[in-house]
Amino acid sequence: MDFGQFNVNALMEITQRPDLVFVRGQGSWLEDHAGKRYLDFIQGWAVNALGHCPPEIVAAVEVQSKLLLNPSPAFYNQPSIELATRLVQSSCFQRVFFANSGAEANEGAIKLARKWGQLNKNGAFKIITFDHSFHGRTLATMSASGKPGWSTLFAPQVDGFPKADLNDLASVEALIDDQTVAVMLEPIQGEGGVIPATAEFLKALRELTRQRGLLLIVDEVQTGMGRTGTMFCYEQAGIEPDIMTLGKGIGGGAPLAALLAREEVSVFRHGDQGGTYNGNPLMTAIGVAVFDALAAPGFMEQVQARGRQLSEGLLALAAKWGMPGERGQGLLRALILDRDDGPAIVERARLRAPEGMLLNAPRPNLLRFMPALNVSAGEVGQMLEWLDVIIEQVR
Ligand SMILES: *Cc1c(COP(=O)(O)O)cnc(C)c1O
Repeated sequence: MDFGQFNVNALMEITQRPDLVFVRGQGSWLEDHAGKRYLDFIQGWAVNALGHCPPEIVAAVEVQSKLLLNPSPAFYNQPSIELATRLVQSSCFQRVFFANSGAEANEGAIKLARKWGQLNKNGAFKIITFDHSFHGRTLATMSASGKPGWSTLFAPQVDGFPKADLNDLASVEALIDDQTVAVMLEPIQGEGGVIPATAEFLKALRELTRQRGLLLIVDEVQTGMGRTGTMFCYEQAGIEPDIMTLGKGIGGGAPLAALLAREEVSVFRHGDQGGTYNGNPLMTAIGVAVFDALAAPGFMEQVQARGRQLSEGLLALAAKWGMPGERGQGLLRALILDRDDGPAIVERARLRAPEGMLLNAPRPNLLRFMPALNVSAGEVGQMLEWLDVIIEQVR
């Protein structure tokens, strides 16, 4: 493919990409090679918590990149200590291991649970996960995921991830045997289509796993770091998991992720876990800057207010167009369509002129919204107004 001054044939074709190259971004706006601007309600797939190129991250990179990039994870560095301290002070966990992607953090969670099973449960290793879940693209995390079609892609799978049905406690209970060590789930299935685990289900699952001596692992790669209106989504269910993974928003667009565990579960011995870039000061300094912005007084209230505005606006659209409704929490929401024209709406939004708009359809009958957490009321209003017109055009 060749367009404008770009020949993209040196890149592997891993997905269908539109004929544009993004060259800069600011806040909720992106700009492509031709100077066209886009209102961005994808934000790198819920990654850019503070929008594109926020001053907090620019400043952190500038300062830290002049001080120290990477002394190796075999040595302590200051930003990683600072970020780990913030994370444990704001959660129910006592220990943190930093990673470079959500999948890698989840690999770490799987390894930690298996290690705990070796030490405490006669080598139990099975981790019950859920249909339609998404935990990443490494072999183990693909095996843990319940994405249709993934069980045969790159076969054979990594063993030991039986699948239960979300919000169905009996389906979990039925899978527990002597080899079970943990249950792992997303508090809201993001890639699966913004499907929440109910608070009652999370509470019952916590009770069940405690009774049966199993670990509860929450994958908050998408729901964590303020995305759902509280720093972590598990707080809203009033539960305390044993292990949590973070990714996406924690780096505000930079590759950073984390594995958190309660003290008793933090059983890695020297040599069990590591990685060349893990906890490097450049990325964790960015993490500190992002964390402090999210923890600032009033920030979460803003996320909640914008979430309510988005929810009400989507409900109004649903009523107008005869759609089933909307769901989600905070600024992770989905509009449920009454037909499979999600991809057509996404395409039309991007092609809109003079300014385009970036939306996501994780399923043909669903639009997902994951704007910057500091998106303005005006930008939410703008998106809803444009979306209404685009639905009219598509239909
Ligand atoms: C995105 C995502 C992952 C994978 O994160 P990567 O950084 O892409 O490896 C894992 N779990 C959930 C819930 C996610 O949304």
